[in-house]
Amino acid sequence: AKVAGKNGFRFYSRAMDHAVERRVHMEQELRGAWERGELSVVYQPVCRTSDGRVVGAEALLRWQHPMLGMIAPSVFIDVAEQSGLIEGIGPRVLRTACNEAMRWANMGEGGERLFVSVNVSPRQLRKGDLPDIVAECLRETGLPASSLHLELTETAVISDELQAAAMLARLHSTGVKVWLDDFGTGFSGLSHLRRVPVDGVKIDRSFVADLQRDPDDLALTTAIIAMAHSLGITVVAEGVEKEAQYNLLAERGCDLVQGYWLSHPISATEFAHLLARRGR
Ligand code: C2E
Ligand code: CA
Ligand code: CA
Ligand code: CA
Repeated sequence: AKVAGKNGFRFYSRAMDHAVERRVHMEQELRGAWERGELSVVYQPVCRTSDGRVVGAEALLRWQHPMLGMIAPSVFIDVAEQSGLIEGIGPRVLRTACNEAMRWANMGEGGERLFVSVNVSPRQLRKGDLPDIVAECLRETGLPASSLHLELTETAVISDELQAAAMLARLHSTGVKVWLDDFGTGFSGLSHLRRVPVDGVKIDRSFVADLQRDPDDLALTTAIIAMAHSLGITVVAEGVEKEAQYNLLAERGCDLVQGYWLSHPISATEFAHLLARRGR
């Protein structure tokens, strides 16, 4: 048993070394990836349940590596965050999204103004210059502040509630809207919503996945919607893949949905085409 344990440990340790090596390698590859044109931004349409109209899109980063192919953000965002590279990449994503959103900002059905929603990492939130970067992007691109939404993760916000509340106040003063992402996964409970001023919550797709089968998930989602609405907060559900999920969410008054059922993330050009098609 002792030998097996020893081998087990050695195997584990070698696997660890390998993981560390891979991280370091990925960090090196990610450095300068934007300049080499390997990073791009795609957009996932968001629709409103009350009338089925597309009202905006979430900007999502993609990394097309010349040798490794397409690398998922779930793999490299973490490396970018821990290495600090996100401090260079994040503002570029923001500027790109604001710029491209200008192309379709006025293409909403019935002439409605569309929003673009951009993910902001915990590290970007902790750094004090985020409101300045946001203001600069809006000024440079001409995108109206009300058309920009920022998505912050629940865990980033609750880890330091006081600092986060101050940062949110500064962000709000630029006129942008703030959404709490991955809502429900941080076990923070809804009480935080009273102290941290947000405009919307995005129900994590892990709750949406089993909505039709799991009564607990449905109850929880229904409770989040009711509570958020009583606080005047918009509710977005992500990861909607099936019509049955959409119907359950719409019935319960969930304001906005996004997911493969409506559309996968697509390029800015494809998104503009989608809007033009729907508009006629
Ligand atoms: P997220 O913010 O929760 O983004 C939603 C993720 O769900 C996206 O994955 C999207 O492609 C995926 N998704 C959308 N609809 C469906 C669906 O119906 N079913 C399923 N199974 N998945 C769906 P993606 O693009 O791989 O991004 C993963 C995460 O990486 C994002 O999660 C976000 O946390 C992070 N991320 C992406 N782009 C950025 C960025 O520009 N900045 C930062 N800080 N994080 C980013
Ligand atoms: Ca998000
Ligand atoms: Ca999310
Ligand atoms: Ca998520």
